[in-house]
Amino acid sequence: MADLLELSGISAGYGRIEALSGVSLRVPEGGIVALLGANGAGKTTTLNVISGIVTPTHGEVRLAGRPLRGLGSDRVVAAGISQVPEGREIFRDMTVHENLVIGAQLRRDRAGIARDIDVMTGYFPILAQRFRQMAGTMSGGEQQMLLIARALMARPRLLLLDEPSLGLSPLLVQQIFDIIVRLHRDEALTLLIVEQNAAVALAVSHYAYILENGEVVAEGASADLAADDSLRAAYLGA
Ligand code: ATP
Repeated sequence: MADLLELSGISAGYGRIEALSGVSLRVPEGGIVALLGANGAGKTTTLNVISGIVTPTHGEVRLAGRPLRGLGSDRVVAAGISQVPEGREIFRDMTVHENLVIGAQLRRDRAGIARDIDVMTGYFPILAQRFRQMAGTMSGGEQQMLLIARALMARPRLLLLDEPSLGLSPLLVQQIFDIIVRLHRDEALTLLIVEQNAAVALAVSHYAYILENGEVVAEGASADLAADDSLRAAYLGA
């Protein structure tokens, strides 16, 4: 498979703090890739570099071979990348419906937007039940589902997911990952998933990278990483 996303030699930081040094990774078209590592390893910073929120000091980001670096977040979304941010950054005082419409703000195909709202409420039936409810009044799991659906309303080729399991019960985590796998299969979606829950992320992904202190310290087929006890003990808190 050709690479949809490629990061080569990315360094980035915040003032004098270097958060990433020389990170290279690839996400093949149609693949699910996991980015794992402990708190502060640089996972969110990596996603923010891809989505144009953080500008790297070195290195290159390419989407289908085209350089993305320095484009700015709106143009990255227009190029086909949507990010589901960590935490619950929904518009709390807007309804579920309004949040979904905002996810499609760069699109002009009104019929397509209406159709995709139906598609999303098909994947996430709870959002249909809560359609006119203020998003801020929903449970954590419902808000996470809304965030994913909102990001998908942009019809991205690549979805970046930042810790979808954060703060959710094991049952909800399983439900959300089941839907993610269905979306990947049925909507031709390529995924890069940041997770601290390595077991769940390795179970659904094809390939994974492990970050430590801003560097890739291990990578491989997810099944191989999951079976490697010493690696799990060293980096994945197992
Ligand atoms: P977590 O799982 O806790 O979110 P992470 O792997 O996503 O961790 P990052 O959030 O990318 O890690 O952080 C990498 C490093 O950069 C950390 O040392 C962090 O303290 C620092 N950092 C992140 N954001 C900022 C910021 N806005 N200003 C200053 N330092 C930051």
